[in-house]
Amino acid sequence: MKIFITADIEGITGATKWEETDQTNQYFLELREQMTAEVKAACEGALNAGAKEIVVKDSHGWGCNLLHKKLPREVKLIRSWAAHPYSMMYGIDKTFDATLVIGYHSQAGTDGSPLAHTMTGNMMHVKINDLLSSEFVISAYTSGYEGVPVAFLAGDAALCRHAKSFLPGITTVAVKEAEGSATYNLHPDLAADMIREGVENALKGDLSKCRVAMPKTFHVEMGYKRHMDAHRCGFYPGAKQIGPNIVEFTSNDYFEVLRFFEFCIL
Ligand SMILES: [Zn+2]
Repeated sequence: MKIFITADIEGITGATKWEETDQTNQYFLELREQMTAEVKAACEGALNAGAKEIVVKDSHGWGCNLLHKKLPREVKLIRSWAAHPYSMMYGIDKTFDATLVIGYHSQAGTDGSPLAHTMTGNMMHVKINDLLSSEFVISAYTSGYEGVPVAFLAGDAALCRHAKSFLPGITTVAVKEAEGSATYNLHPDLAADMIREGVENALKGDLSKCRVAMPKTFHVEMGYKRHMDAHRCGFYPGAKQIGPNIVEFTSNDYFEVLRFFEFCIL
């Protein structure tokens, strides 16, 4: 069994302040350790379920957050960014048996986390076929595009509910709940234990229930915080500015949607 893991940091237990997610900040070090611990737990769960190969994409900020030496030897780690439209899913292909998503967070336009955003802090919202989409949804469709089931998600509770409604067969572990600027967090060791167990059970289960149904047509609506960003992205081939802050784009090919995101999520 070959497993792909994509990992972010804002949905790790404890993560609450932007400063903690910034690698130049002193508070980042502790969160980096816990991001590594949660990814390690996911890897251990996968190995317990029979995985032989694991590729991890470090998908937060500068992409160099995880401490490779603390992960199992089977892990090949992708650091930094390839400037490829697969973005947080870069490295996935049809040879993988399942995708695991760790440390993901609520999307822009929702109040599920004090760190809610979609890809960057500049988007008011990203909708795909009218669904207020998260990085989880964007990544899940990328996995679906490669025919790889999405078996597991760990992140904030609101994102877990959103993921369950998008893909009912997925196993989720909510490591925290939020209200306003506050977060209620699981103990770091308990979060890791729940992730290890959740991943193992998910991968021993029926992965066909975790296949992502790909729509025939993807209609994307982008809301920008800055009207000048909408103006600029309205010039992307095939895109159309339909309001001061809103741009839309439609394609039957999800890769074209990802290409659009690569250039127009600013
Ligand atoms: Zn992030």
